[in-house]
Amino acid sequence: MAQQSDDSSRAKTGENLDVLVSTQTVIKKALDKLGYPEQVFELLKEPLRVMHVRIPIRMDDGTVKVFTGYRAQHNDAVGPTKGGVRFHPDVTESEVKALSIWMSLKAGIVDLPYGGGKGGIICDPRQMSFRELERLSRGYVRAISQIVGPTKDIPAPDVFTNSQIMAWMMDEYSRIREFDSPGFITGKPLVLGGSRGRETATAKGVTLMVREAAKKRDISLNGARVVIQGFGNAGSFLAKFMSDSGAKVIGISDAYGALHDDEGLDIDYLLDRRDSFGTVTNLFKETISNQELLELDCDILVPAAVENQITAANAHKIKAKIVVEAANGPTTLDATRILSERGVLLVPDVLASAGGVTVSYFEWVQNNQGYYWSEEEVEAKLEEIMVKSFENVYRTSQTRKVDMRLAAYMVGVRKMAEASRFRGWV
Ligand code: GLU
Repeated sequence: MAQQSDDSSRAKTGENLDVLVSTQTVIKKALDKLGYPEQVFELLKEPLRVMHVRIPIRMDDGTVKVFTGYRAQHNDAVGPTKGGVRFHPDVTESEVKALSIWMSLKAGIVDLPYGGGKGGIICDPRQMSFRELERLSRGYVRAISQIVGPTKDIPAPDVFTNSQIMAWMMDEYSRIREFDSPGFITGKPLVLGGSRGRETATAKGVTLMVREAAKKRDISLNGARVVIQGFGNAGSFLAKFMSDSGAKVIGISDAYGALHDDEGLDIDYLLDRRDSFGTVTNLFKETISNQELLELDCDILVPAAVENQITAANAHKIKAKIVVEAANGPTTLDATRILSERGVLLVPDVLASAGGVTVSYFEWVQNNQGYYWSEEEVEAKLEEIMVKSFENVYRTSQTRKVDMRLAAYMVGVRKMAEASRFRGWV
């Protein structure tokens, strides 16, 4: 998560860990490379709108607790804004802003008719009851209802939010508007208009990116040694897809520690034992730290947890040949440079994790049409989009001689810059 104070936003190495500052730095570079004037950067460096809400919730013990939440809408020149809502104690306004910019970039890279949005509530769902979570989810929708909607801004799941939370939010919004509004939010349960394949979409997308990156480095996935940091929605399904495709998942982790077995972990067993927040290492005596996990000898490393995990302090020690970012913002800019100098192929977050929002788009299209697709159809369309987007970013990085992150930003920023120009905003 984003660092809260100036002190903590600087690592021991002196590098800046503020994710808003780092995304602005790369946006600026991408716009300069593409030849856009300064005013385009002025427009895109911050969200157009950020709503700050305070949500009073009656807790189960009868007391009232006031929660703080945000919804950031980065740029709606291309279309309505879109992006998840995270429930986490470390959420900050600055982080939500950065996350909304990343959503704009993802939408641009996979070419969806959206701009980026993101929401967050400062809370710890691991410490809350089911009913408290329901009241908080509904309270958030009441608080932001004026600025969201199926043609304005469409929320979705993110860290520690799931299809049940999307269902409560959709129900609350439909009640406020007094008509059924499935297209208000994506990531819903199937019976409420969710899309087949949405739950596994982020992991499917990451799997495709691992496959494409492995081809570029002549690594066969069969027997490849894979390390995955994080065992939430993305990390856990990814571990399954990787081991099903013949790779050896030798390390996984959660917020409390990591597991390592050079012979390959029993992923089905771990999936069976994980709780709904992705915690599983508490069941084991022999664990290693998350830092040790990142430095394991492996072919492919997938950070699928939180921000600022690969930094200037450990980038030299990463042994993987390919790093695919399933989390948002796991690698700092200094670390990106170090990895690129060392010849590591890095598939950046704004490309690698775009499978989630892509299938969210399919869900929204199906809701708008009232016509639902098969899982095969969803998967085939996802694969076509992800593979095309990878090629586009990879080609840009080769022809423009820039790293994959800058290439992804160049591809991602262009559509919103052009749409803003045609609308006469810049
Ligand atoms: N929260 C996910 C992301 O960061 C998905 C967003 C969506 O489906 O709209 O991409």
